[in-house]
This record gives sequence, structure tokens and C-alpha cells, in this order.
Amino acid sequence: MTVRLNDSFSNIKDFNPIENNKVKIYTCGPTVQSYIHIGNLRAYILSDILKKSLQYIGFEIDDAMNITDVGHLTTDGDEGEDKLEKKSKEENISINNIIDRYTNYFYQTIARMNVTKTSKMYKASETIDTQIEMIKILEKKGFAYKTTTGVYFDISKFKDYSDLINQKSKDQKKVSRNTVVEDKTKKNAQDFRLWQTAYPEHIMQWDSPWGRGFPGWHIECSAIIYKALGENIDIHTGGIDLRNTHHVNEIAQSKSAFGGEFVNHWIHNGIVLIDGVKMSKSLNNIYKIEDIESKGYNILSLRYLYLNAHYSIPINFTFESLKSAENALNRIYNFIKINKNLYQKDSVPNEKYKLKFIEQIENNINTPGMLDVLWGVIRDTKLDISEKLITILDFDRVLSLDFEKYFNIDIPEDIIGLLNKRNILRSDKQWKESDEIRDVINEKGFRIIDLKDKSFVIKNG
Ligand SMILES: [Zn+2]
Repeated sequence: MTVRLNDSFSNIKDFNPIENNKVKIYTCGPTVQSYIHIGNLRAYILSDILKKSLQYIGFEIDDAMNITDVGHLTTDGDEGEDKLEKKSKEENISINNIIDRYTNYFYQTIARMNVTKTSKMYKASETIDTQIEMIKILEKKGFAYKTTTGVYFDISKFKDYSDLINQKSKDQKKVSRNTVVEDKTKKNAQDFRLWQTAYPEHIMQWDSPWGRGFPGWHIECSAIIYKALGENIDIHTGGIDLRNTHHVNEIAQSKSAFGGEFVNHWIHNGIVLIDGVKMSKSLNNIYKIEDIESKGYNILSLRYLYLNAHYSIPINFTFESLKSAENALNRIYNFIKINKNLYQKDSVPNEKYKLKFIEQIENNINTPGMLDVLWGVIRDTKLDISEKLITILDFDRVLSLDFEKYFNIDIPEDIIGLLNKRNILRSDKQWKESDEIRDVINEKGFRIIDLKDKSFVIKNG
């Protein structure tokens, strides 16, 4: 069994975890200064499907993510205003309220998209000590230097720097007053800031060996990876827009500080266009999931739409494409609703289709291929209905499109309550108590179907 995975800094290559069966995986999280939109969501759906795919074929996941709450400037570079402080002024509410509001919205939204929460989550502001520790290492090793406005990474000391950037892009946005301005005393134009001082108006500040200030945006991810997962990790994911600056800077910092490989596979998702153009405030096309929901769509149709394209390519979102994704998803739901009473107790997922599904996982997490295999199961006239049902439910451990809800559709609330209680007991490995609940459910005329990490209930027929 060999998994082949992309690496945006080299080529597709074999996946071999650093530590036996455990996959250390990091995803760049949100800057919590606005509501996350459907374009942002693609990155979290990718990291979710990637983790669930690797779990499906037997790997364990050790994952981490950051929440950016300080240091991300409006230009994405070393100039401009702190994004959160700008928002706090605009909305005239405290920075803590801004952080809470958009962090809570982020968690709610990804949960509604069936994205499992990352186990190790850190806010940038919670990891200042680790960030300072890393900057000290970089300074000691000669990769960082102090100026009158802060500490910079010296890119001339990291020889691969310009080779890693494949499209040089300069941020041309105008910088307004009352903002951080690029330091003219830095050694190379592309040197980037690790620590900012000399900005007394900034609300969030900490003491450091270089003076009171706050970290640059890039160092937080390197520091959180180090703190949560170690010096080297297997997979790092994020949107393609982060590749050329944020991720090149992460590589420069972490490789210089620790000398290792840092990341074995860089996995980037393509951008999401809306009706063929980039999202922007002026075009009024920045959609949140509530915006598609208010038009009557099931938000999981968006998940289906994203899974129906390979993660590495750009997607053009239109309401027509969402509609066809929803139609396809409804056909699967209907198939389950119509046939669920034909489910036989001892059915197991079909081995041949399971292998085909795994082949698609191994082929660089080919989600459109996984959906093709699923449709192959539904359309296979020779396959027993009960086997079809359990096979697609098994695939949904990865796809997470809520298939089990359509099994549970006529189930009374008290039974669903018992099922949920039992699920919690099972996740705590309290087998005796969970078996007792199973017996109660059986006595009430229903039966439980257990998949490896998911259970659902149907009427005894
Ligand atoms: Zn990051």
C-alpha cells in the first residue's frame, strides 16, 4: 500500500510518515478578523478529507492549527495596519470581542461543514514565548538581525529562498497613515519581519529581548508547528495563495532554526472563483454559508461540489454548479431513504469497491475518483442493495456528507438520544455501558449498525 501525495515545492511523491503510522499534519488557520467565506472553507475541507482519508487506510492523525489573532498586517507583508486592530476600530468594539466573535464563527462554520476540529489549536497570542524562543535561535545562528524597528530574517543567509518562490508577486496596496511602514534599514528587500517594535499604538504588545512589541505573521506558524508537533512534520496544508510568501517564509525560518526537512509534503488547494472572478467586497460576491443557505441550498452541497474537483485545481463556483452538486447529493440521499429498510443485519462493505475507493485515496487524495466509485456502487445492478447501503455508508466516514441521517430519518428522538449517548460511551471505550444501551435500543424495535468510527440506527424490519 503506497500513498502518493503532492508536494507543491517538488513533485508528487510517495508518502512515508516520519513516525511509524502516525501522521503529523498542520493546517494554516484563519485570521479572525472577518467571517470565513466559502473560498476559505475549501482549505479546511481539504485538510479534513485528507486526514479522514489517511485514517480510513489505517493511519493515526496528530494535527495542529493556528488562529491568527495578532501580527497579520493588511498588506500580508511587512507594511500596513494589524488586521484585527483595524477591524476593532472599524466596528468600535474591543479586540477581544473581535477575536471571540470571528473565532466562534469559524468553529461553528467548519463544524456545520462536517470538518472535524483539529486536536491542537493555538492562538498566535498564546504562543508568544515559543515565537520569541525561535527568533532567539535564528538570531544566534546568524539568520536574524535587529534594526531600529524590529527583528528581520536575512534571506541572503538561506540559499534556497528565491528558488522556492515560483512567481514573484509584489503587494502593491497603498499603505495608509498610522500603520507599520517598511523598514528601509533592512539588508535585503525581501527580508521579512520576525518581531515588530517601535509601534507604540499597537494594542497587543509583549516584552522581548528586542524591546516591547509583537510578532510578525509568519513566525507564528513555524512556532506552533514546533510547539505542537515537533521540528519536522509529514504534511502542511493551506491555500495556494499562501505558497509564495507565507509558506516560503515558514520554510526559511524552520529549516534555518532546526536544520531538518521541516515538511515532507506541502499540499495546497486551488483558489475558488465566483462566476469566473475573484471574490471582492466591491463585487459583493463574498459568500458565507448562510448566504447559500438562505437561497434554499443544503450547505453540504458545497462540500460535495468541492469534493467533485481535485483539490489542486481552481474551482469556479456558480449557483448552477452548486445546484447540480445538490441534485447529485439528493439522488444519493433518496437512494438511501428508498432502500434503507432492505438493509440486512450482517451486510459488510463490498471488498472490491472498498479497494477501488482506497486506490483513489492513494492516488493523491483523488476525491472526484472517490465519488465515481460511490456512484459505481449505486449503479451496479449486480450488487445486493444491503451491501450497497453499507458500502456507501462506509465511504461516508471519509466523505462526511451525512448519509447516516437518511438512515435515521424515521427514528424517534428518544432513540436518537440513546444512540448519541452510546456514541459518547464508545468513544470513551466504555464497552459494557454501550452494550447495555444497544440492548435497550433493540428492545424498542430498532437496531444499531456500527462502522469503524460511526454508528447509526434503523428500524427492525
Ligand atoms: Zn500559516
